[in-house]
Amino acid sequence: MRPPYIYRWAGLLTIVGLLVGVTAVVLLDRGPSTTLAAGPVVELPVATAPAVVPLAPVRPAIAPTLLTTTGGGGKAVALTFDDGPDPATTPRILDLLAQHRVHAVFCMVGQAARAHPDLVRRVVAEGHRLCNHTITHDPGIGARTPDVMNRQLQASRDMLVQASGGADVDYFRAPEGKWSPALVRTSAQDGMRALGWTVDPLDWTTPGAAAIVTRVQQRMHPGAVVLLHDGGGPRAQSVAAVEQLLPWLADRGYSFVLPT
Ligand SMILES: [Zn+2]
Repeated sequence: MRPPYIYRWAGLLTIVGLLVGVTAVVLLDRGPSTTLAAGPVVELPVATAPAVVPLAPVRPAIAPTLLTTTGGGGKAVALTFDDGPDPATTPRILDLLAQHRVHAVFCMVGQAARAHPDLVRRVVAEGHRLCNHTITHDPGIGARTPDVMNRQLQASRDMLVQASGGADVDYFRAPEGKWSPALVRTSAQDGMRALGWTVDPLDWTTPGAAAIVTRVQQRMHPGAVVLLHDGGGPRAQSVAAVEQLLPWLADRGYSFVLPT
C-alpha cells in the first residue's frame, strides 16, 4: 500500500507542471505578438539596420610606384635623412629643423632605431615622419624572394614602430636606391610608400660641407626630394651643410613638405 504522501507529491508535481506549461504558452504567445506588433513595417528594421562601422579607418591602397616628387605643386621640397638614428648627428639635425620649423623624413635602419629609441621618439615627437630603411641597411633586399622581402620589410617596420612607441611608418626606401619592381610592390603592399629622391649631393662620401651645399643648390628644383644622411658614419659635414641650406632655401621661396 502506498503512503498518502506520494499522492500529495504527485498532486504538487501536477500543479508545478501545469504552471510551467501555462508560463510556456504565455511566453510563446508573447514572442509572435511582439513581432506582429510591427505590423506591415515588419521588414523595416532589417532594411534600416545601420551599416557595420569599421573599428579603424581603412587606409587607402598605396600605389606601387616609386615616389620621387613632393606633390602639391609650388616650390615645395622634401628633406630626407637616411641611415640614422645616430646619437652624434640626429640631435643636431633635429635642432636645426626645429629652429627653422621644417619637418622631414627620417629613413631609419631597424638596428639603429632599436639601439636609440629615445632618438626615434624625439623624431616622431617633433613632427617628422618615419621611413623604413631595412633591418641592417641591406642593399640586396630588392633581389630577395617575395616572401623573404616581405618578412624583412615587416620586421624592420616593426622595429621602428616599437622603438617609436607606436608611430606610423609611412615610407620605405631601398638602401643605396637599389630598387626592383618587386620591392616597390612589396613596400606598397605593406603600407609604405616607396620613397626615392631627385637630389643627391653624395654627402656620405664626405666631400666637404661646401661641396654638399653647392651640389644641392645647383640641383634644387620645385618638387625635389633631397637625400642627406644623419647616420652611417661621421656626418658633421652634412650637419654643416643643412645649417647653410635651410636659410638658403627659405630665402629663395622654397617651402618644406612631406612627400605625397
Ligand atoms: Zn642608406
